[in-house]
Amino acid sequence: MPKFDFNKIIQWLAYILRCPVCGHKYSADQTRVIDSGEERSILGRNLLVHTDCARCKSSVVFSIAIDGPEIFSIGMVTDLTSHDTSKFKNIRPISSDDVLATHEFLKSFDGDFRTLLK
Ligand SMILES: [Zn+2]
Repeated sequence: MPKFDFNKIIQWLAYILRCPVCGHKYSADQTRVIDSGEERSILGRNLLVHTDCARCKSSVVFSIAIDGPEIFSIGMVTDLTSHDTSKFKNIRPISSDDVLATHEFLKSFDGDFRTLLK
């Protein structure tokens, strides 16, 4: 299987993409590949990349899909650090049951976190 050149992807991102908040160009130094999709074929690979804006300090997570010669990217502004993004990327999404359980809990919660966390 051919190797993937992550440095070229990061350089491409830094060259092409701008911060959606302030328009500043990204720095390759502040861009990290969170998930390289190594378990999938190189022709149908998805990458997850996190970058921080050097000017406004906002963060964006890019999902990059490589489908043969075509590359698609979708960016989402986030308050997650690259470490947080790595930590949460494989965690199960919050379900409607989780939301309902939290709602039911909060209905009777008195706000005493000290007792709750003991
Ligand atoms: Zn910015």
